[in-house]
Amino acid sequence: MNTQHGTHPEAVGTRRPSRRTLLKAAGATALAAGPAAAGSAAAAAPAGDRGAEEEYDVLVVGAGYTGVTAARELRARGKRVLVLEARDRIGGRTWGTAFAGHQVEMGGTWVEPAQPHIGAELKRYGIALEEEQPVDRVFLPTPEGPREFTPEDGFGRIGTLLERLFEGSEEYFPKPFEPLHRADLLQHLDTLSLRDRLDGLGLTEAEELLINGQTSVYSGGSSSRGALTMLAHWWSLAGWSNEGWNDTQRYRMKTGTAGLLHRMLDEAQPTVRLNSPVTSVTDTGTGVHVTLRTGERFSAPHAVVTVPVNVLSTIAFSPALPAALTTAASQGIAVPNATKLYIHARGSAAGRFYGQGAEGGTAIPMMMPFEETPEGLLYMAFSTDTALDPTDPAQVAQAVRALGAELDVLGVHAHDWGRDPYARGGWAFRRPRQLTSLYPAVHEPSGRLFFASGDLADGWSGFLDGAVESGLRAAAQVAAAR
Ligand SMILES: Cc1cc2nc3c(=O)[nH]c(=O)nc-3n(C[C@H](O)[C@H](O)[C@H](O)COP(=O)(O)OP(=O)(O)OC[C@H]3O[C@@H](n4cnc5c(N)ncnc54)[C@H](O)[C@@H]3O)c2cc1C
Repeated sequence: MNTQHGTHPEAVGTRRPSRRTLLKAAGATALAAGPAAAGSAAAAAPAGDRGAEEEYDVLVVGAGYTGVTAARELRARGKRVLVLEARDRIGGRTWGTAFAGHQVEMGGTWVEPAQPHIGAELKRYGIALEEEQPVDRVFLPTPEGPREFTPEDGFGRIGTLLERLFEGSEEYFPKPFEPLHRADLLQHLDTLSLRDRLDGLGLTEAEELLINGQTSVYSGGSSSRGALTMLAHWWSLAGWSNEGWNDTQRYRMKTGTAGLLHRMLDEAQPTVRLNSPVTSVTDTGTGVHVTLRTGERFSAPHAVVTVPVNVLSTIAFSPALPAALTTAASQGIAVPNATKLYIHARGSAAGRFYGQGAEGGTAIPMMMPFEETPEGLLYMAFSTDTALDPTDPAQVAQAVRALGAELDVLGVHAHDWGRDPYARGGWAFRRPRQLTSLYPAVHEPSGRLFFASGDLADGWSGFLDGAVESGLRAAAQVAAAR
């Protein structure tokens, strides 16, 4: 399994006074320490003056899309901003690295220009998009085992079932960016898991097999985990149609996800400290004090905490987190198990295929072509099965065989986000009751603390768009605070 190897983001820093320059140099030093520094960031972080507290106007914890958005907006309002990031890189659950001669994204990848917040960022920085190429073949599960379909037939069948699954969503999510607009209708619907919904549809065995691979993968492995209202929310945000749904997996940034993030930082020039895991956040009522694992301390009138919701419980908050976030942190919002794999196959006999397995039927329930290589083809795949060892090509080849395709696996590059200490999960995917019980309270500041995450968006929660949305909201809240 790959850990935090890969990209070498520029040491982002500041053009301001010498102490800040020191911080920049410290970040650069930690980066130079390379992979060994990852996961043991305390050792890589500079010793600093543990007695003194560095003061800023706002501290931002986490340098993913949410934190960087918040930092940029606060810098634009003239604030002195320090971003504290645990890893040796920015980007969080987005992470571009090299494999088989290509730049691959180990986390968030696809963006859709119609998603309003990320769409605005793409436009603002002139980021070009690359369109995924169509597939030639589709392998889907049937009662007789995996079968090949033409793309038109296979995707057509899945599309028809998705429409049935989400029937009524135009009524219960009429304004998708105001998810509680019809809270009255959601009270019951939000108690349903995707499994409840599938069971209620009266599907034939063949129909059930065609659709439960999707509902279970998005839910993190089991259709019983994820809420109907979560997937239906995405469907509604995508315009209640298969076309809109498919568009959410159609485009990637030519610059990679890191390209846009660096543009945002270049514009804003906040101070960024890498290798700086935060262990405690204390709001005294007159200011916020943040302590790193190294013991170094920083203070500011306000702080924006953007770590993934699944990670919140690893930081000591004083006073304790507000009730909604305490619940969210203990339940988790992001799927607990999510491994993304790039599978390099010799030759191209299997071709450009999309493979989808049945729920519980294979360790790799979803895969698709990514790019051609001189040796063959590179595929992108997802797994929610903790028993799969993605470093073992034989295991991977066997899981692919269960989809119906034969691959001569040359190598695999994977990242397990569930075992990543600074993510503790993959994409956000709410469980039943979380929307109606946690929203809108999860957006409320607590004293001098502001909480933001792509996991907590009103709109595209679980997407980059939601991260930008949440970062914008937190910055506006800080700006309005006294
Ligand atoms: C496998 C996968 C595939 C995905 N695919 C897509 C996709 O195709 N399209 C899409 O739009 N979205 C996708 N997503 C979702 C998207 O990546 C996330 O919604 C988004 O990146 C979240 O951004 P964030 O800034 O809120 O959180 P994060 O990116 O997780 O940023 C939080 C930051 O906080 C840091 N941190 C954690 N603990 C500490 C600490 N103690 N001290 C300091 N810093 C800390 C982390 O290191 C991290 O950098 C995918 C996610 C995954 C995992």
